[in-house]
Amino acid sequence: MALMRTLSACVSVAEKAGVVLRDIMASGNLGIVDKGGINNLQTLADKKAQLLIVTSLMKHSPKATIIGEEDDIDYDTDEARSLITMDTSSEVMEHSCPDKLAGINEEDLVIWVDPLDGTKEYVEGRKQDVTVLIGIAAHGEAVAGVIYQPWYEVEGKETGRTLWGVVGLGAFGFKRVPVPEGRKIITTTRSHMQKSVQDAIDSCKPDKLIQIGGAGSKCILVIEGTADAYLFASPGTKKWDTCAGDAIIKSLGGKMTDVFGKDLLYHADVPYPNKTGVLATMRDFDFYLSKIPANIMDR
Ligand code: AMP
Ligand code: MG
Ligand code: MG
Repeated sequence: MALMRTLSACVSVAEKAGVVLRDIMASGNLGIVDKGGINNLQTLADKKAQLLIVTSLMKHSPKATIIGEEDDIDYDTDEARSLITMDTSSEVMEHSCPDKLAGINEEDLVIWVDPLDGTKEYVEGRKQDVTVLIGIAAHGEAVAGVIYQPWYEVEGKETGRTLWGVVGLGAFGFKRVPVPEGRKIITTTRSHMQKSVQDAIDSCKPDKLIQIGGAGSKCILVIEGTADAYLFASPGTKKWDTCAGDAIIKSLGGKMTDVFGKDLLYHADVPYPNKTGVLATMRDFDFYLSKIPANIMDR
């Protein structure tokens, strides 16, 4: 019950954060800041979207732990208070919580927030790659997730869409295309390519490689059946990049781990980086795992 209640708020705030991303893009004043490292940017949109999501969730689910990507945000301001929304998704509340997750209490929840996944792509105007990610974990495991895609087009109109899922219940908000048996299409990074990433991909001998920005957008390709595996043999992604997609992929019967097959864990006190990379598939997980060289990166 606590899980579905919190998830219903997450769906609603993810969509409202998407409006913030669209409005700031339309204003033309992105306020770009370099956070250091390679292709590691922040804009006014990252900050304002996180402000909206986190202040709203703190009010809605005060006992949950909420961890957002941006760490320089003051939630005790008039602006923060003005952004609070208590709206929830009635679509989520129409579903009952799977029995296995029914015992989860609000204080067990750890909510991982990436207010704008694909900031580099946002800055470059590659809007289709941008997503808002909210993942919910309990006892270390990703159990529910929301991916909002603000610029998703329906009949030529950028209406946006929400994908959400709960492990044991299923996932909603998209259509999975039929996938030919044995096909191997891999998706990976566009802007953080390096040798270990390429070597792991080459070992799998994919039929095709799709390089796009953002962890959320790559998870969507796997969820919908456009790609068969998301493979990134490198540090770089953080828990807020993977938690939402991890939960949705799992809720469809797929799998997300590091590149050595170890589950990604989402306890409140885990280190944020996914140091040993990401492997996510809806099928043929063992094939990809068997092809990735054991020494591809430091464990
Ligand atoms: P990508 O697949 O490169 O678009 O990255 C997916 C997510 O992981 C984005 O949120 C990136 O910012 C993050 N990420 C990946 N590699 C790095 C890196 N080397 N440094 C910082 N962030 C990274
Ligand atoms: Mg991100
Ligand atoms: Mg981000």
